[in-house]
Amino acid sequence: MPEKNIVIVGAGLVGSLLSLLLSKKGYNIDVYEKRPDMRKSGAKGGRSINLALSDRGWKALKMAGIAGAIEEIAIPMKGRLMHSTDSELTFQAYGKEGQSIYSVSRARLNELLMEEAEKIGVRYHFEQQCEEVDSETGIIHFSDHSGQPKKVKADVIFGTDGAFSAVRTSFLKRDRFTYSQQYLSHGYKELEIKPDQKGQFQMEENVLHIWPRGDYMLIALPNPDKTFTCTLFFPFEGEPSFASLNSDEAITKFFETQFPDARALMPDLLEMYNSNPTSSLVTVKCYPWVFDSKVCLLGDASHAIVPFYGQGMNSGFEDCSVLMEILENNKNDNWALILDKFQKSRKPNADGISELALQNFIEMRDSVANKDFLLQKKIEARINDLYPNKWMPLYSMVTFSHKPYAEALAKGRFQDRLMQEVLGIDGIEEKYQKESFKELIRPYVERNANFKMADKKTLA
Ligand code: FAD
Repeated sequence: MPEKNIVIVGAGLVGSLLSLLLSKKGYNIDVYEKRPDMRKSGAKGGRSINLALSDRGWKALKMAGIAGAIEEIAIPMKGRLMHSTDSELTFQAYGKEGQSIYSVSRARLNELLMEEAEKIGVRYHFEQQCEEVDSETGIIHFSDHSGQPKKVKADVIFGTDGAFSAVRTSFLKRDRFTYSQQYLSHGYKELEIKPDQKGQFQMEENVLHIWPRGDYMLIALPNPDKTFTCTLFFPFEGEPSFASLNSDEAITKFFETQFPDARALMPDLLEMYNSNPTSSLVTVKCYPWVFDSKVCLLGDASHAIVPFYGQGMNSGFEDCSVLMEILENNKNDNWALILDKFQKSRKPNADGISELALQNFIEMRDSVANKDFLLQKKIEARINDLYPNKWMPLYSMVTFSHKPYAEALAKGRFQDRLMQEVLGIDGIEEKYQKESFKELIRPYVERNANFKMADKKTLA
C-alpha cells in the first residue's frame, strides 16, 4: 500500500478525475478547491456549460470505473450539421457509422467525479485558495474566503488549478522556466435555445450544429433537458464584432441576417446576449511541468488550449491515463522518475493538440462551408473505408484514436499533401465513388502507410 500523501490543487474536471484514479491506487488524497462545493452552492463548474467528450476522455473514465455513469448523461453527436445563411442544412459525419462524440454537462460530470472519489476516501476541502507552493519543502499555502491562512504539507503535489494556475505562478520566476500565454482576437458568448412547448428539442439532437460564417461562427450542443447551449465565437473588435454590435437593433439585425433559423428559436436573444458575459480564449504553454521532483502541473494548468477541437478536457483526461500507465509500469513508487517520464512523454503531445486546436478554428468557421473541402472529406472517408488500416482522417486520429497528438499532427499534414495530389486527379469527383477507385488510390495509400514520424522534421 503506497504511503505517500498527495495533495491536488483544483477540483475541476481534471483534478477530480485524478483524485479518483490515484485513490484507487491506494494513495492518501486531499483535494483543495478555491470555490464552494458546487453540489451545495449550485455554482457552475466554470466556462462552457457543456463539453464534447471523445475517445481519449472515455478511456480515462473507463480506467476510473465511472464511464457507465457518464454514459447515462451523455448525448451522442454523430457529425456536424452546417446551417447556411439561407437555413440550408449540410451534414458531415465525424467518423464511421457508430462513431460519435458526446455532449456532457460540465457541472454534472464534475459532480459525478467528486462523488465517486469521495466514496473511496478522497477528502475535498472547499473555499481554500492556493496562494503559493514551495516545491523544496512540499508546503502549500492556502487562504479561505476570510483570508485565514493555512499551510499543508504533502509528499507529492499536483497543480490542476486551470489555465490561470496559482501553482504554476509560484514557479514563474524560476530559472529556465519557459512560459507563454496568447489570447485570440476572438472571444465567445454563450446563448441558449429552449425546448419547444411540448418540452422537446427544437433542432436535430444528435449532431453538433455549426453556423460557419468565415471569420466567426455559432455552434450549438444538445443538453439532456432538451435545451441547446449555443456559443458565438466572434472577434472582439472590427466589423462585425462584439464591439460593433453595440445596440439591441444591431444585435437583432445581425442574428436575423447571419443566423436566421437560430434567431427564430431564440425569442429571448437580447436578454441573453446583453446579460451573458463575453469571455476570452487563451493558449498557455510552459515547461518544465515538474519542480523538485515533487510538484507537477497537469491539465489546463500545464497546457490550456483553444476549444475548437473539443480536446481541452479530453487531453487533460489523457494526461491522467498516461500518468496511471507510467505508475503501473513503475511500481517502486519512485515519483522523481514517474513525474519526469510523464512530463517528457506528454509535452510534445500537448504542443501537438495546441496547434491542432488553433487550426481547427479555421476549419470550423470557414472550410466546412466550402464545397471542395466537403468533397475532400468525402474522398478521405472513402479511402478510409477501403483501407482502414492504412489511412485514417486527421479528425478520426485526434478524436477516435489514442495515437499521440504529435503523431496525429505530423501524419495529418502528410495526408493533407497527398490529398492535394488526389484532388488534382482528373474527374476525381466522380471517380472516387467507382469500384476502380481502390486501385487508382493504392499508390497514395502505400505512400501514406510508409510515412514515418521522422518525416515530421521535414514537415515543420
Ligand atoms: P479547470 O476546469 O479550469 O479547473 C480548475 C479548477 O481549479 C477549478 O475548479 C478552479 O476553481 C480551481 N482553482 C483555480 N485556481 C485555484 C487556486 N488558486 N486554488 C485552488 N483551486 C483553484 N474541452 C473538451 O475536451 N471538449 C470541449 O468541448 C470543450 N469545450 C470548451 C468550450 C469552451 C468555451 C472552453 C473555454 C473550454 C472548453 N474545453 C473543452 C476545455 C475544457 O474546459 C478544459 O480543458 C478543462 O476544463 C480543463 O480542466 P482542468 O481541471 O484542467 O481546469
